[in-house]
Amino acid sequence: MPTCSNCKQGWGWRLSIKKSFSIYGMSCPHCQVQYLSRNAKRKTSFLAFLPLLVPLLSLLTNLGFLAIIMIFLSVSLLFMSLYPFLMELSSEDQLRF
Ligand SMILES: [Zn+2]
Repeated sequence: MPTCSNCKQGWGWRLSIKKSFSIYGMSCPHCQVQYLSRNAKRKTSFLAFLPLLVPLLSLLTNLGFLAIIMIFLSVSLLFMSLYPFLMELSSEDQLRF
């Protein structure tokens, strides 16, 4: 689970998921705005493509539409449940130029 790089308070799974939907940084409930670290952005962006690869299964296999949808939803839920474990927080936006 992520830990705030400023106040060292841990974020729970639910708070991490909730904050991950914010566009411009994630405000820590105890102090200041936090950002995903460069390493965490790299890891999560790689895993975010996995659910998008599921529709390719329909081209490679004879699975039905409903099976593809179920696999897509399962992979998406797996990604969402693992996402907080991949988060690392930083006090600076490391990808800003
Ligand atoms: Zn904090």
